[in-house]
Amino acid sequence: MKISIQPWNIVFLVGFIIYCSIRGVFKQRTEGIEKIVRPSDALETTLLILVGVGSLLLPVLYLVTPWLAFADYHIPAFGPWCGTSLMVPALWLFYRSHADLGQNWSVTLELRKGHQLVKRGVYRSIRHPMYASILLWDVAQGLLLQNWIAGWCALVTFALLYLLRTPREERMMCEYFGQEYRDYMRQTGRLFPSLGFRGRTLS
Ligand code: SAH
Repeated sequence: MKISIQPWNIVFLVGFIIYCSIRGVFKQRTEGIEKIVRPSDALETTLLILVGVGSLLLPVLYLVTPWLAFADYHIPAFGPWCGTSLMVPALWLFYRSHADLGQNWSVTLELRKGHQLVKRGVYRSIRHPMYASILLWDVAQGLLLQNWIAGWCALVTFALLYLLRTPREERMMCEYFGQEYRDYMRQTGRLFPSLGFRGRTLS
């Protein structure tokens, strides 16, 4: 086993540990809360597996084995510096979106008993801040790990999940929350604050 001690890999590893810890803590907090709607199917499961491979398995393989070295490349230090500066807001938004969703968070498409529609905090003007944070994190991963496979597979697989899951998630939320979610959709943007949003009180 080789542990690559290339400095940018260490920067990535530190962020990766923080990223996984945030997930782990919030996963524990939602464990045991009954699920009342679970439209997950083979497509959702396949997407989750692909994202797991791109975001967890491949970076770990790259860091601890030489198997992916054939796909290495080198870019000037400007690239990984940009990656490092994207990592910080990505981790902040990842943490904030978990904290704001609280017990309403799930790794997959589902609604829990007593599910509340969250419209405060980072959900005030964006409907999918957690997906925004993951996309940002995946770009940071690509800029830090200078390997075509370990660096960029996370972005490709998560972008696919985002494109296929988001319309289904919004349909699920519309069916459950009805007009309240439709109004919320009108007042917010998917990944960026909606231009029409003028700071109305949503709570
Ligand atoms: N798409 C959101 C949440 C991702 S977690 C984001 O990117 O921030 C996925 C789960 O969160 C979904 O299964 C749904 O149950 C829940 N969810 C999504 N938006 C929500 C909201 N505004 N309020 C409460 N729960 C929400």
